Amino acid sequence: MAPIPGSGLAKGLAVTLRTMTKKTVTEQYPDVQPDLPPRTRGVIGLFEENCTVCMLCARECPDWCIYIDSHKETVPPAAPGGRERSRNVLDRFAIDFSLCMYCGICIEVCPFDALFWSPEFEYAETDIRDLTHERDKLREWMWTVPAPPALDPAAEEPKEIAAARKTAEKLAAQAEQQEGES
Ligand code: SF4
Ligand code: SF4
Repeated sequence: MAPIPGSGLAKGLAVTLRTMTKKTVTEQYPDVQPDLPPRTRGVIGLFEENCTVCMLCARECPDWCIYIDSHKETVPPAAPGGRERSRNVLDRFAIDFSLCMYCGICIEVCPFDALFWSPEFEYAETDIRDLTHERDKLREWMWTVPAPPALDPAAEEPKEIAAARKTAEKLAAQAEQQEGES
C-alpha cells in the first residue's frame, strides 16, 4: 500500500515534539565539567612512596609503555652488628599514554598500591611525543584520585583494621594495668 502523502513529515514532527519535551542530554563541556563516575579510567597516578621498583607493572603491561629506571643503594644495619641491606631507588617512572590502552593491568598487579586511576582526562597534546609523562606529572595526578567509597556498614571489618584495633586495645589494657599497679 502506498504511504499516505505527508505521513513521513508527520512522523518526523512527532519525534521532534517528543524530544523537545525531554530533558536535554547535551554536555556543556568545557564550560561545565562532566560529572564522571568515581572509577573512571582517565589517567594513571603514581604514589611513588609506595613503589618498591619491583617492575611488575612494567613487565605485565601489554604495550610495554611503562619506563622505569632505578639504582641500588646500601642501607646501613638497623642495629650494631647487623647486616647491610640494599634497596632499589627509583630514578625514572614514566608512562607513554600514546601507547597505553587503559587496560588497568598495571594498577591491578601492583602489589604495593602505588598506581591508581584518576578521572583526569584533560591532557591531550598536539605532538604525540608529549604524551609520555614522567613521575612528577604522574604524582600530580595522584592528588586527583577520588577517595575510596565508604565501606558497607554491614561489611566484615578489614583484617588490617581488626589487627590494628586489637593491638591498640591490648596496649591500652597493658597501660591501664601498669597504672593500677603503680
Ligand atoms: S593501563 Fe595497561 S596499557 Fe596502560 S600502562 Fe597500564 S598496563 Fe600498560
Ligand atoms: S608494580 Fe607497583 S611497586 Fe612495582 S614497580 Fe610498578 S608501581 Fe612500583
